[in-house]
Amino acid sequence: MFGDLKLATVCQEARCPNMGECWDGGTATIMLMGEICTRGCKFCHVKTGNPKGVLDPLEPEKVAYSISQMSLEYIVLTSVDRDDLPDQGSSHFARTIRTIKKLDSHVIVEVLTPDFRGDRELIQLLVDAKPDVFAHNVETVERLQKSVRDPRAGYQQSLDVLKTVKEIDPTRYTKTSLMLGLGETDEEILQTLKDLRGIGCDVVTFGQYLQPTPRHLKVQEFVTPEKFEYWKKTAEAMDFVYVASGPLVRSSYRAGEFFMKGIVEKQRRSTNG
Ligand code: SF4
Repeated sequence: MFGDLKLATVCQEARCPNMGECWDGGTATIMLMGEICTRGCKFCHVKTGNPKGVLDPLEPEKVAYSISQMSLEYIVLTSVDRDDLPDQGSSHFARTIRTIKKLDSHVIVEVLTPDFRGDRELIQLLVDAKPDVFAHNVETVERLQKSVRDPRAGYQQSLDVLKTVKEIDPTRYTKTSLMLGLGETDEEILQTLKDLRGIGCDVVTFGQYLQPTPRHLKVQEFVTPEKFEYWKKTAEAMDFVYVASGPLVRSSYRAGEFFMKGIVEKQRRSTNG
């Protein structure tokens, strides 16, 4: 179905090993607004370029229609960064959420968004469309931001995106992901967790950084499963609502979605009385 409508799913693009398991379980990750990103993060395999304002105006309807036909339970909507568009793609992203929910009010929508350069109005457009989970990745600890991410991204800016979501609507769940194995220290990871809790971030995931091609950043360390377990326990003790941590954890991995589905449904029941 996705292939028929020429939609890009992150699962297919990244040849993710968990794809069969997730799709069978009613989860899929869809990448909006094309396959060319205006940013150039040094860990990411997505093509960098200038899409020159080109956007499929019918994409929100196509995505929503596909989802309504597939009886999916949990959708992760993500996108490349679109610094070339006047609103950085925020209204297109928001319209997609609304259209999905209009055609299928049960599906849980998690968005994994760009930073919108921290622009509150653009973030508000998305929050107002009521995604169930709002994810934005800090990716790594503060010291390594410049060597890992595009220069336009930044630690404080990403924290501010998550903080702004909670300020606008405290009932939205916020989520972020950290890649380990880039040369970060334990103290730096701990400080990141404290910073995330400080802005009310609900969910954190840890995964191993894997070098996509020899041109990308080298892996500094393969973190042991025991260490991932240590970070899971540490974050849980800090009262994150949910923590996923393991070498193969992707920010959109199904285990997390399964758990988040339980929480979101509970919240929906209590809101509906
Ligand atoms: S902004 Fe996202 S999609 Fe673009 S290069 Fe960075 S990680 Fe990849």
